[in-house]
Amino acid sequence: MKEVNPYVLALKQLDRVAKKINLDPGIHEKLKYPKRALIVSIPVVMDDGRLEVFTGYRVQHNVDRGPSKGGIRFHPDVTLDHVKALAMWMTWKCAAMGLPYGGAKGGVTCDPRKMSRSEVEKLSRRYATEIAIVIGPDRDIPAPDVYTNPQIMGWMMDTYSMHVGHAVPGVVTGKPVEIGGAYGRVEATARGCLFTVGEALKCSGKELKGSTVVIQGYGNAGSISHRLAEEEGARVIAVSDSKGGILNSEGLSFSGVSAHKKETGSVVGFPGAHPLTNAELLELECDLLIPAALENQITADNAPRLKAGLIAEAANGPTTEEAGEILFKRKIPVIPDIIANAGGVVVSCFEWAQNLMGYFWTEDEVNKKLHDIMIPAFRNTYELAGQEGIDLRLAAYMLAVERVAAAVKIRGVYP
Ligand code: NAD
Repeated sequence: MKEVNPYVLALKQLDRVAKKINLDPGIHEKLKYPKRALIVSIPVVMDDGRLEVFTGYRVQHNVDRGPSKGGIRFHPDVTLDHVKALAMWMTWKCAAMGLPYGGAKGGVTCDPRKMSRSEVEKLSRRYATEIAIVIGPDRDIPAPDVYTNPQIMGWMMDTYSMHVGHAVPGVVTGKPVEIGGAYGRVEATARGCLFTVGEALKCSGKELKGSTVVIQGYGNAGSISHRLAEEEGARVIAVSDSKGGILNSEGLSFSGVSAHKKETGSVVGFPGAHPLTNAELLELECDLLIPAALENQITADNAPRLKAGLIAEAANGPTTEEAGEILFKRKIPVIPDIIANAGGVVVSCFEWAQNLMGYFWTEDEVNKKLHDIMIPAFRNTYELAGQEGIDLRLAAYMLAVERVAAAVKIRGVYP
């Protein structure tokens, strides 16, 4: 599969929308580049006594609409360009949802699956220390992403708090509830994704109940999408993780697959299911395909063979620009990442607001508020796409980039 640099993809997406909305060339130029990019080296004494030095990044793409917000990824493929693209996508996502944030992202090039808990804790704390000069509850607020989790957010919150001498729960979101996390945050990305799926299916007179679903990736976004889709009465026929996929056209039970993954470390080998590759999984016939792993999975190579009725991008950037055009021509709707997976940052925003006010909502209140943000965001996008005869991604980008451009214009260029 041809590697696409995610930052090149992000710039192409911006160019396409700039042309469509007649974006001021100066503002277009400004939005191409991150406001700030910090590269840090992170020395860690490993369990065997060796000193290993990892490279980490924190990129703040734009802060015109408020402090920047975005997750932290621990993955071997993390590069500066990766993080720059992910930070730009966060700017559009926060604007698409109407959240008072700009976009940022962080990452460390490492493989936490091959590290002990204590090595991951040391890496997380030293990374948090190194980026402490640019983050803070009113500056830039990290959250979990691929191979980071609530415990890692807890270590980062503790590290930052130790440095300033008092507890600062609002410095990161996606924390455990015991230290200021929001109820419903763990499920928020998948829940938000399924809210948009329900609405998209409703628009074509269909429903999730009884639909067949295929999910790529079995972490936070993917496995919880399995659970929630099953709860809605859908039949999840195939799932995968980094080691490969499994298929059972009768349906795969969430409790069975998740217990198998917990025990063996992978969904592969689940009794009664056929093995298949990640590439084969994407091409299965189904009503709904949820890519919930990494970027660059749906490309011009495989897009002509996809047989899904609807695609919801729980992952960030899973579809290349060329693949998006092919799918649009083939009339396969794609709910774009900046809408489909925005539930995570929406509930992160609730968590941050709760930390700042010191007051908490119940899980039902959080889910209702999430619903009330996701549905209008999807509907506005859907209606604009219909009016303009364009795909959902371009419509979502038009709404988002226009909001950011308006903020840039009002604030002006300093000095
Ligand atoms: P995670 O670390 O919890 O899970 C990642 C999953 O992807 C794992 O099951 C892993 O095995 C699988 N995976 C890794 N490489 C793969 C490959 N080459 N093929 C198939 N599967 C592979 O991460 P997550 O938080 O679920 O994030 C997944 C995607 O969702 C990412 O694109 C992330 O940016 C996006 N996302 C996550 C959130 C969130 O709140 N967690 C919010 C918005 C977007």
